[in-house]
Amino acid sequence: MSFEIRHKHNTARNTSLFTAGDDRINFCEAECFAEIFCAYAIIFANSMAVFKTISRQALAATILLFAVFTSSRAQAPAAYSSADIYLQLKKLNVLGSVLYIAAHPDDENTRLLAYFSKEKLYRTGYLSLTRGDGGQNLIGDEQGIDLGLIRTQELLSARRIDGAEQFFSRAYDFGFCKTADEALKTWDHDKILSDVVWVIRKFQPDVIITRFPGDERAGHGHHAASAILAKEAFAAAADPTRFPEQLKNGVQTWQAKRILWNAFNFGNNNTTTPDQFAAMIRNDFAKWSKVIKEAGLRAE
Ligand SMILES: [Zn+2]
Repeated sequence: MSFEIRHKHNTARNTSLFTAGDDRINFCEAECFAEIFCAYAIIFANSMAVFKTISRQALAATILLFAVFTSSRAQAPAAYSSADIYLQLKKLNVLGSVLYIAAHPDDENTRLLAYFSKEKLYRTGYLSLTRGDGGQNLIGDEQGIDLGLIRTQELLSARRIDGAEQFFSRAYDFGFCKTADEALKTWDHDKILSDVVWVIRKFQPDVIITRFPGDERAGHGHHAASAILAKEAFAAAADPTRFPEQLKNGVQTWQAKRILWNAFNFGNNNTTTPDQFAAMIRNDFAKWSKVIKEAGLRAE
């Protein structure tokens, strides 16, 4: 969300890049315009000392009315369709939450997120450690941070469709690397681990799911590192001696019930196995075992 605050005062160029059909950004534009208009109007009014008092009062009233109008637009409540409201009412009757963790925008299994959020009605989140700054761009010339901003908006748009919540960490996508060690060293292991722990303590998931395994089968150092950090954070989030400063800022320790790996089969890389559910059938996870089996997940 910090991006949106920065964006509010960003350039028209960036606005055109990110905002097609996005009402929230349009409100930001209205706010910016109102601020600029009022600032110039006040300067103009102060410089017109020769005007009679009544004229200056009329101008002040006009400015006030304009500011009220644009402020009321900026605070207009979000509009929901009947289907959205019906879905949200149904979700009130379902307890259960899932946090999916990977490294980049586009790593996430969007079908799985939609399945959890809109079919099983669980509270669902995706933590992308990076914003995809180091990815390739075949449809424009934006690279680095500019590309990361675009991909941030792509994820936020995707979550508005699949119904999941979006989280990021402070990890910067510096491009491809071969090993998790390189990624964790570049990112600062403890800093990014603290971010993952923070999201877990804040979101309080019942189940955590990684997209990748924590080894070379992940295919990218960032991918493997995301799984390593997720496993470490699964335990650290429940430990009051780990990152205790967070506990003074509105979160509590949290022990998720289970951590899973969303095994995959694409390209020549098949990480699924016929017995991948064998270790998972336990009474205390009866609720989840059925969901896990339906969704094609693997015990970690
Ligand atoms: Zn990736």
